[in-house]
Amino acid sequence: MSKTKPLLFIDIPRQNPAKRDARERIAEFKEIYGQFDPRTAADQAGRCLHCGIPYCEWKCPVHNYIPNWLQLVNEGNLFAAAELSHRTNSLPEVCGRVCPQDRLCEGACTLNDGPGWPEREALDPGIGAVTIGAIEKYITDEAVKRGWRPDMSGVVPTDKRVAVIGAGPAGLGCADILVRHGVKPVVYDRYSQIGGLLTFGIPPFKLEKEVVQTRRELMEGMGVEFVLNTEIGKDMFFQELLDGYDAVFLGMGTYTYMKGGFPGEDLSGVYDALPFLISNVNRLLGIEQNPREFIDMRGQRVVVLGGGDTAMDCNRTAIRQQPAKVTCAYRRDEINMPGSRREVANAKEEGVEFLWNRQPIEIVGEERVEGVKVTTTRLGTPDARGRRTPEVVPGSEEVIPADRVIIAFGFRPNPQPWFEEFNIQVDERGRVKASPLGHFKYQTTNPKIFSGGDMVRGSDLVVTAVFEGREAARGILDYLEV
Ligand code: FAD
Ligand code: SF4
Repeated sequence: MSKTKPLLFIDIPRQNPAKRDARERIAEFKEIYGQFDPRTAADQAGRCLHCGIPYCEWKCPVHNYIPNWLQLVNEGNLFAAAELSHRTNSLPEVCGRVCPQDRLCEGACTLNDGPGWPEREALDPGIGAVTIGAIEKYITDEAVKRGWRPDMSGVVPTDKRVAVIGAGPAGLGCADILVRHGVKPVVYDRYSQIGGLLTFGIPPFKLEKEVVQTRRELMEGMGVEFVLNTEIGKDMFFQELLDGYDAVFLGMGTYTYMKGGFPGEDLSGVYDALPFLISNVNRLLGIEQNPREFIDMRGQRVVVLGGGDTAMDCNRTAIRQQPAKVTCAYRRDEINMPGSRREVANAKEEGVEFLWNRQPIEIVGEERVEGVKVTTTRLGTPDARGRRTPEVVPGSEEVIPADRVIIAFGFRPNPQPWFEEFNIQVDERGRVKASPLGHFKYQTTNPKIFSGGDMVRGSDLVVTAVFEGREAARGILDYLEV
């Protein structure tokens, strides 16, 4: 291990060091000091113990060669680290920023002492998991800055062409593997920018939009072609893709907004999470078609319903628009929130007020929203997945005053009307049937069509979508006998 001063000794401004969870401090550290310089990156990478069994690699969904690229960083061999990190991950700089590392690689690091050790951490802030995500991000950011580009010198072109629908993480992962095997990917997307939810879902304070732009330049340099502003099924028939290409990959995500099913959801002033986030990004990127589509929270009393990461993104986006107040209501208690602890802590610190154990039952108002009627809940018996079901406390109704309500209950798949015509079958939850265990990985019920990402597994993570896109590309290569 490096003898130099551990990176985490850097003084991080914070409100109450004694009470801060070490994990939060590391997250905060990453946000503030995310830009490693070569020396500090090497120090942090040098903390890796190179344990016999690389638990971190196994826990990482793309099985990154983490100890190996940590070693290369420690040795100052940045370009080799960048090549190696791209062997397993098509978007390492993105995953380094947005993966829930505490549940994945860093959670599995032998040096991770887990939560509940703030006292020890206060004595020695250099302990704890290697900050794998921050180093992964550093490798590509810094290598690109210094002129590194993916090595395509050994690629032998073929005459095969594959259409990829969706320029989100799954589509980009698929295109990356195809182009590296000499197959020409042409990626279609209905939006004007690539990235899918990377651009139009995850807020800019978690993922700077320039990062996706740089990735686009890298991929175009590798030979990936993007056809944007083109919705398949509307601007172009799916049949044209089937006729014009040797195979088709579907990476179209999951876009049906989950509703609460209570009265008042259609009132003016009530918004689904994604349109709100998209309107915010459109304004920031200067690509909004109509300024009146911007959902402005300035001076408003905002209530966000939901307890997952999308709800936290809405909270944190709303609080940045100078609202009068942002309140987040969730039907279980804080411990049982599905959102990451880090994001809840961030939202709290930024001024979001949380109301735990509140179940919305109605959005009240005449024409416009005036408030959210909630009941208090207590946790009852565990459900099939072991999560305790919230039970309503009789007579506990109250109305939270609100001018704007954001519903952030998650997403369900949205199978396209044309799927049936092309024998693309979905399961009972609307997810496209495409198995990693099929004869050709991720082949759908139409042999020429493959699929992966959120539209196959349901809403999940960037890194799992990347993985499935890459695996589906391997299925396509086998199918095309490349
Ligand atoms: P998407 O990213 O949804 O991409 C699908 C693409 O297909 C889109 O660009 C869409 O325009 C395009 N498309 C769809 N239909 C058509 C059509 N007919 N024609 C042309 N194009 C089409 N994950 C994390 O790991 N960390 C996070 O911090 C995180 N934060 C999130 C925050 C929010 C608000 C949301 C909603 C999700 C978040 N996720 C996060 C989840 C992650 O973004 C998704 O799991 C991931 O983007 C899924 O990738 P995908 O390629 O399957 O789909
Ligand atoms: Fe960790 Fe995600 Fe990177 Fe894997 S891809 S090493 S889980 S940050």
